[in-house]
Amino acid sequence: ETNLLRTLIAHAKEYGFIYPSSEIYDGLQAVYDYGAYGVELKNNIKKVWWESMTRLNENIVGIDAAIFMHPTTWKASGHVDGFNDPMIDNKDSKKRYRADNLIEDKATEYENNGESAKAEQLLADMNRLLTAEDLKGVKELIESHKIVCPISGTANWTEVRQFNLMFSTKIGSVSEEADVVYLRPETAQGIFVNFLNVQKTARMKVPFGIAQIGKAFRNEIVARQFIFRMREFEQMEMQFFVRPGEEMKWYEYWKEARMKWHLALGTPAEKLKFHNHDKLAHYANAAVDIEYQFPFGFKEVEGIHSRTDFDLKNHQEFSKKKQQYFDTEINQNYIPYVVETSIGADRAFLMVLSNAYTEETVGEGDEKKERTYLKLHPALAPIKAAIFPLVKKDGLPEKGRQIFDMLKYDFNLIYEEQQSIGKRYTRQDLIGTPFCIAVDYETMENDTVTIRHRDTMAQERVHISELKEKIGEAVSI
Ligand code: ATP
Repeated sequence: ETNLLRTLIAHAKEYGFIYPSSEIYDGLQAVYDYGAYGVELKNNIKKVWWESMTRLNENIVGIDAAIFMHPTTWKASGHVDGFNDPMIDNKDSKKRYRADNLIEDKATEYENNGESAKAEQLLADMNRLLTAEDLKGVKELIESHKIVCPISGTANWTEVRQFNLMFSTKIGSVSEEADVVYLRPETAQGIFVNFLNVQKTARMKVPFGIAQIGKAFRNEIVARQFIFRMREFEQMEMQFFVRPGEEMKWYEYWKEARMKWHLALGTPAEKLKFHNHDKLAHYANAAVDIEYQFPFGFKEVEGIHSRTDFDLKNHQEFSKKKQQYFDTEINQNYIPYVVETSIGADRAFLMVLSNAYTEETVGEGDEKKERTYLKLHPALAPIKAAIFPLVKKDGLPEKGRQIFDMLKYDFNLIYEEQQSIGKRYTRQDLIGTPFCIAVDYETMENDTVTIRHRDTMAQERVHISELKEKIGEAVSI
């Protein structure tokens, strides 16, 4: 873990964003809970995504499918047979690793030593062996490059085995016929199996999209990097159904549209990049990741995939139900092709938090001090404004409460009258509140308040009647 990541983890816990799950029992690996400000921030990320998909696009509607699905779904989707990670155990440390991660780390080491050609060759060999499912070959590759366990330092490895990432459980009471069901490893299949339901009932015409936000579960072998890789997480996915042959046009369209979304939320262009997949998943004919520069390097935050008719065609085959659409414009029946955009809400959260976390030195000479704040886009900030009466007497608290009541239907607010105003500002900086509204004696005379801006710390005097519009403007995208 890098220092910055460690700082973020500590900040997230200290200020009510994220805690380890069931922490009093020492937590559960790769599972996390969101606290008071974390849930607001995450909800705001989801809201901005949802609205940008469903409200701004007349031809995209939402659904909310169940986590449990008929087990055959996962046979049709290829997850029962193909959703595997190659794992290997070190016999001395008893630690389990993803074989591909170990090899990638070695390649990075070569790269850092200036041995780029060697790094490239290693990765190419790995991709070739994994594609051919030659697990013996993968082990030999690990041995020939003398890759050791980071904990024990030895190269005493077990065989490489495939490990399915789906969690399973049983449905029905034990005495009845118990059936294995899976916790969905992606939300997409809930959309595919409902494709015709939605198309007919919402009267959609190709091209159209279906958007969904929901939990997904993966039994990740190695959980690392905080909420970057979790076992229970949330996905925000949109499957866009198009005419066969038009998928590349839409793939390019969504690639650009999604990058614009990231930029609109305040993520700087230099911290984002596209990464084309050389090795395509079994269902795709084109795939690109949007990568963000996390504290541990450029890593995927979102995937845009051209999934062809893979999923619908397989569901048609397994269910024996036609998954075709009749296109009245060209008088043709076909199984639509699909372009999807898929982003993890938690991974997006980590991106937003990493990007917002700011430490700076302010003031001059003796006044110089360190300041930490979250430079969140106001649309994402958990609390939009905090209301502070300067003192706890002379009617100032009552006035503050009046302002609170006036604004609370539009914005998530905090009212705070304890401690010095400076301490109250600091506390809001740490959770990323863009505006602090101070009620003072002048307020009692002329109904004006000071607004203190988080990023510049500048203060301005405004009339109470202007607050709603001012905050409202800032929190829209
Ligand atoms: P990775 O290569 O990092 O495992 P992936 O390519 O398997 O990711 P997809 O199956 O394309 O990921 O899932 C789409 C998105 O879901 C990812 O871009 C990521 O934001 C999110 N995601 C996937 N797995 C996890 C996880 N274990 N924890 C948190 N988010 C995840």
